[in-house]
Amino acid sequence: MAETPSIYLDHAATTPVDPRVVAAMMPYWTEVYGNPSSIHRYGQAAAAALEAARRDVAEVLACTPNEIVFTSCGSESDNLALRGVALAARAAGRGNHLIVSPVEHHAVSHTAAQLRDSFGFDVTWLPVDEYGRVNPDDVGRAIRDDTVLISVMLANNEIGTIQPVAEIGAIARRKGIPFHTDAVQGGGMLDLNVDRLKVDLLALSAHKFYGPKGVGVLYVRKDTPLLPMLTGGGHERGRRAGTQNVPYIVGLATALRLAQAEKETANTRLQALRDRLIAGVLETIPQARLTGHPSERLPNHASFAIRGVQGQDLLVHLDLAGIAASSGSACNTGNPEPSEVLLALGLPREWALGSLRLTVGRQTTDEDVAYTLDVLPRIVARLRAL
Ligand code: PLP
Repeated sequence: MAETPSIYLDHAATTPVDPRVVAAMMPYWTEVYGNPSSIHRYGQAAAAALEAARRDVAEVLACTPNEIVFTSCGSESDNLALRGVALAARAAGRGNHLIVSPVEHHAVSHTAAQLRDSFGFDVTWLPVDEYGRVNPDDVGRAIRDDTVLISVMLANNEIGTIQPVAEIGAIARRKGIPFHTDAVQGGGMLDLNVDRLKVDLLALSAHKFYGPKGVGVLYVRKDTPLLPMLTGGGHERGRRAGTQNVPYIVGLATALRLAQAEKETANTRLQALRDRLIAGVLETIPQARLTGHPSERLPNHASFAIRGVQGQDLLVHLDLAGIAASSGSACNTGNPEPSEVLLALGLPREWALGSLRLTVGRQTTDEDVAYTLDVLPRIVARLRAL
């Protein structure tokens, strides 16, 4: 019997750490281990590494190093952006109203819901089209005198759709309202220039671009009022207390620099693999459709709704065949309800329950795609026959 292959098609959930990133991190465990806030030479060496990482990240985002806040993950960055801006605005008496897209990751949507339910903020959930895209005109229409923050993600984790962030940013800027984008899924593949994107806050997470898990970034444009959520020392210019995790931050900066420098070549390769997956699934599986935008989507992201099967069953059978995939957001695994994102697209429940996400990455080969396209239609047929 042929050996079961091991094919990882879940790069939207997380990525392996690039060996070059591991190498860059190594000295900061045992050699350069000082506390970056300490005055002595041990502290200075750690602070130098921290500030070099901050400059590297700032260069990618085309901002100043002072505008970079290191955090413990993408979720923390999103939490800090929403709660930090909303509560600072509340404290200054500027207003109570937030505008959020209905296809956000829970790090944003649950934070907005908590601000509504426990802190009395009013939240407008924007409409989206069948591809999960926000119409910038709807953002303009939703803005009120008491609006204090707009949050629309750069690219969606479940359906890959890229949002018209720069157009939304232009509207927010004209009205003087802070604009946050969750760029976690786009970190290694999309342009992150904060002036071109016209954003005031932008969240990243290293483990989505071949860096370590448990470290993130929040870009905060100069003069954006933000109440810190972690109070204590004056770390991160008073915006996030806690001794910085220097090895992880060095890893994040190295991974971001490498991914951004290599993204043109990498994206072309990923897109070819992605397009073969999409075409193959749509050709060989009856009653399967692409979810998310056909062209404005992440280069590595193929996502489908397959009628008459359960996403969870598909994942188990794919795993038995050696293929690691996902159904909607990884955080939703084990939850047989269709995700809010898929429902927001207007997908009927019987389609939305059969959601499948295949996300390719640096190690994915043509053979991996061919094998997946061979195995998947048979698994779907078998599940439908049950
Ligand atoms: N935002 C998006 C769009 C994501 O896909 C994720 C992770 O899946 C997060 C935020 C949370 O990032 P982290 O896992 O670093 O907390």
